[in-house]
Amino acid sequence: MGLAERVMELGKKLFRIQNVDGSGPMAFDSSPGLYIHVPFCPEFCSFCPYNKIKYDSKLTNKYLTALKRESELQRVGQFSSIYIGGGTPSYDLDLLKGVVSHFREMTDGEIALEIHPADVSSKRLEEIRETGVNFVSLGIQSFDDFTLNSMGRRRQDSVVSLNSIAATTSAGFDFVDVDLIFDYQLERRRIVEDLETAISYGPEQVSVYPMMRFADTAYKNTKNDPEKELEILEELENVALSKGYIRDSLWTFKKRNEGRKYSSVSREFFLGIGTSASSFNGKEFRTNTFSLDEYYSFLDSGKLPVSKTIKMVKFSAILYYSFWALYGGQLDLRRLEEHFGRLPVRMRYLLHSAIARGYFQREEGIVKPTRIGTRKLHIVEEWLTYSFIDRIWSDLRNKARNHSISGESLV
Ligand code: SF4
Repeated sequence: MGLAERVMELGKKLFRIQNVDGSGPMAFDSSPGLYIHVPFCPEFCSFCPYNKIKYDSKLTNKYLTALKRESELQRVGQFSSIYIGGGTPSYDLDLLKGVVSHFREMTDGEIALEIHPADVSSKRLEEIRETGVNFVSLGIQSFDDFTLNSMGRRRQDSVVSLNSIAATTSAGFDFVDVDLIFDYQLERRRIVEDLETAISYGPEQVSVYPMMRFADTAYKNTKNDPEKELEILEELENVALSKGYIRDSLWTFKKRNEGRKYSSVSREFFLGIGTSASSFNGKEFRTNTFSLDEYYSFLDSGKLPVSKTIKMVKFSAILYYSFWALYGGQLDLRRLEEHFGRLPVRMRYLLHSAIARGYFQREEGIVKPTRIGTRKLHIVEEWLTYSFIDRIWSDLRNKARNHSISGESLV
C-alpha cells in the first residue's frame, strides 16, 4: 500500500465517509455561518479546482429558485454571517441581487462576496454595496501579464488588476481582502512585487496562496514543493511586516491594527447551500452534489442535495475544528470546550506535546502557532488538501459527470 493509501486508511478510521442521498436538515448548537455557492463562470481558469459551470443567463433564475428551495428544506434560521462564493458571483448582478435580497435578513453579521477583477467598475461596486454586501474579496491572483496568461485568465490582464484594486479599495466597503497566488516555479521577485503592489492600495487584508496542484486542473501532473513555498511565505512575511501588516493566519497578512477578519475557510461552523457547498456542525461534514441536474432533481423530490457525508467521532471533530482554528491564527480553548465539552486525554496530550516541542505557545487559554508551528501547519494543510479534499472533490466531480442529463458544461 502506498503512502497516499495508508493516509486514506488512517483518515477513514478517523472520519467515516458515508454516501447519502440527502438526509434531514443539519442541526447546529449556535448560529452557523451561511455559505452560498454560485457556480457560474464565463471562463475557466487553468488552476481552479472549484465546482463551476459555464455561465448561461438562461440558467440563473432556476438556480436562484433552487437556492431558496434548499434553504426551506434546511429550515434555515439566523446566521452569524453570509459568504457568497463561486464560481463568479460578481458576474451576473441580477442573480447577485436576488441572492442577497433573499438571505440578507438572516444575519446581523457581515455579508461577504468574492469579486472577479474583470467585473469591477465604479458603478458595479456601488450597486454591489447597495445590495448590503459589506465585505469583499477581490480575486486578483496576480498583477503580472505572463502569470495571468499562464493561469488562463482571459478576462484579466495587469491593467484590469490595477484598475480593479484601485476602485475596490476606494469604494467604501467595510473590509477588502485581496487574493494573490504564487507558484514556487515562477520567479520569486514576481510574488514579492505583487504583495508590495497590493499593500500599496491599503486593503485590510492580503491573502497569498500557494498554487495547489489539484486533479482536474492543468497542474495535475506537477508537484508542490512545500519547503520552497515556506521560504517564499517567510520572505513575504518580512515584506508585509515592513509595510505595517502582520501575518494573521497561515496565508493571510492584515493591517497591524485591524481587529476584524475575512475568511472563507476558517469559520467555526457553517451551512453551505448550492451545488458542491459544504456544511460542518461539529459532528458531521456534508458536501452537496457537484451536478446541477442532480441538484435540481434532489430538490424536486423534496430531498436535500447531499452527495457525501463524513461522520465524525468527537476526537476527529475536535481535531478538525482545532486545525482550522490554528490555520486561522489561534485556538481558543475555552470556546473549544464550550462546543465539545471537556477535552479527551489524547487531545490534551497532543496539545501539551506540540507546545513542549515549540510548535505552539499558550497564553491564558489561547493557543497560537509559533513560526515553526506555522511551517508544520502549512505541511498538514497540503496533506489534507491532497489526501482528502482533492480525492473527495474528484470523486464528486466524476459522479456529477455520470449524472449529467442536460450536458451541462461542468468542469
Ligand atoms: S478561479 Fe474563479 S473565475 Fe476562475 S474558473 Fe475558478 S471560480 Fe471561475
